[in-house]
Amino acid sequence: MSDWDLIIVGAGSAGCAIAARASENPNCNVLLLEAGPDYPDLAATPFDLVNSHNNSYSAHDWSLDYEPVRGRTVAFPRGRVVGGSSAVNTTIALRSLPEDHAEWAEAGNTEWAWDRVLPAYRRMERDLDYGDAPYHGDAGPITIRRYPHEELLPQHQAFLETARQLGYPDCPDANAPDSWGSGPQPMNKLGRLRVSCAVGYLAPARIRPNLTIQADSLVHRLIIEKGRCTGVMVEKAGEISRIRAPLVVVSAGAILSPALLMRSGIGPGEELARHGIDVAAEAPGVGQNLCDHPALSVVCQVKDGALIDFDAPIIQTILRYTAEGSDKRNDLQIEQFSFTGRRGGPPLFGIAAVIEYQYGRGELRLASADPHALPVIDNRFCEDERDADRLVGCLKDALAFTRTGPLADMIEAVTFPDPARPNDDDSLKGLVRKRSGSGYHPSCTVKMGLASDPMAVVDQYGCCHFQDGLVVADASILPFVPRANTNLSSILVGEMIGEWLRTQPGRYGL
Ligand SMILES: Cc1cc2nc3c(=O)[nH]c(=O)nc-3n(C[C@H](O)[C@H](O)[C@H](O)COP(=O)(O)OP(=O)(O)OC[C@H]3O[C@@H](n4cnc5c(N)ncnc54)[C@H](O)[C@@H]3O)c2cc1C
Repeated sequence: MSDWDLIIVGAGSAGCAIAARASENPNCNVLLLEAGPDYPDLAATPFDLVNSHNNSYSAHDWSLDYEPVRGRTVAFPRGRVVGGSSAVNTTIALRSLPEDHAEWAEAGNTEWAWDRVLPAYRRMERDLDYGDAPYHGDAGPITIRRYPHEELLPQHQAFLETARQLGYPDCPDANAPDSWGSGPQPMNKLGRLRVSCAVGYLAPARIRPNLTIQADSLVHRLIIEKGRCTGVMVEKAGEISRIRAPLVVVSAGAILSPALLMRSGIGPGEELARHGIDVAAEAPGVGQNLCDHPALSVVCQVKDGALIDFDAPIIQTILRYTAEGSDKRNDLQIEQFSFTGRRGGPPLFGIAAVIEYQYGRGELRLASADPHALPVIDNRFCEDERDADRLVGCLKDALAFTRTGPLADMIEAVTFPDPARPNDDDSLKGLVRKRSGSGYHPSCTVKMGLASDPMAVVDQYGCCHFQDGLVVADASILPFVPRANTNLSSILVGEMIGEWLRTQPGRYGL
């Protein structure tokens, strides 16, 4: 017997959407568990979560580290709060491409073909600029707008004009399915307010008597009995308790979902044995297939220090384009950062080169079976030649911005890469292999796919191939990283699976 029909572990981008959609059925009692704190209304919400002008890096963070390339370890932010990483992020609201979905469908996930996901994309958004376009929505929980030209900072106006001079087409709506080129970023913000999933999805759902949000609750592991997941063991205020439900949905994100599965005995046998964890189900794909968007920024000192304002929006514009010779449309991004460095330091801005279609894969392992220990994240960026070559090309394209048009006029000197170093392709390849970092878009570590694929962990509805009573639903189940920043794709997972839970509960045994 249980008070709950559904337990969701993790109130992030996907978890909030699932909680909101599933609890639209008044007969479904939903418990949403979150390790971090909950701020039930805006008045009580700390400024770092409200402020969409910049990321929140430390106040609501898991304090993870990662190894982008072998031998270099750096901090890896992930939101630990109701709203998850959507509550701390940059609010770039880019959709995955139709071609991404064609690849997912080709891998056996036919429900994720473009025409199947488009209604969910339309349902999630209130696009203030293009809401009347047939592929947009105008009444969803996530408000999206683009900075009009007059609200762009001078460096962003200059970035767009320089892009034009370099021959890239204008792109007024980067979420139009066939678009490419440079233009304003679609962003999920209203004025300064970050429209996180806590704001967009949970705020209107909180009054429902069948939805309970329990914050400050760290799920240690899943309870597995007689081949079925029957609940969770959770720590709150130092007490550990068991909570049971016929269905558990794990939405702890692409780093912490696979870690929770492995702690619960679902994972690669060797990895579980290494930590003395009893095997509930051998699932070789858990923690494997780690994808992201490897990136490296050009850093420029500007002539006029007044351009650099650390309270201004850090990002406003975007260039999406295709690498020379590539058959993957929009596999590269260049982004102008309004400022970089530190307050009081020399006045700097950045121009980031980013790979959107990654060929290489990393992996994630447990540091120990202790639920308080954080996993080891090993990305291996640019070990694949195709990634290294395209990041070198993208870096060179980003450097062209520093020599062209009004952006060049603003720059005193490029400070990274050091202009004195050799800039032939081999030397730049060495650089990207040493210095590239994450776009903060980890994904694909519990990937969906056919049961015949030994590395697939869940089916296309999120149901675990190896364990009844268990669904995984967040960025971890994406089969390939989309050619877009991953927040909207993570919300998409929540929208799709939340809607199936509401309309087809029988599929999930409810
Ligand atoms: C600094 C930063 C900037 C970013 N900028 C952008 C951007 O501008 N645009 C974009 O598209 N993407 C951006 N991203 C990425 C995007 O936010 C994520 O891809 C997306 O939020 C992932 O959603 P998710 O549901 O998979 O996981 P999350 O949103 O991370 O949610 C996971 C939740 O589970 C909770 N949790 C984890 N383990 C447990 C446990 N054991 N018990 C209980 N709760 C647990 C976590 O605290 C968290 O709330 C950014 C990410 C970061 C960190």
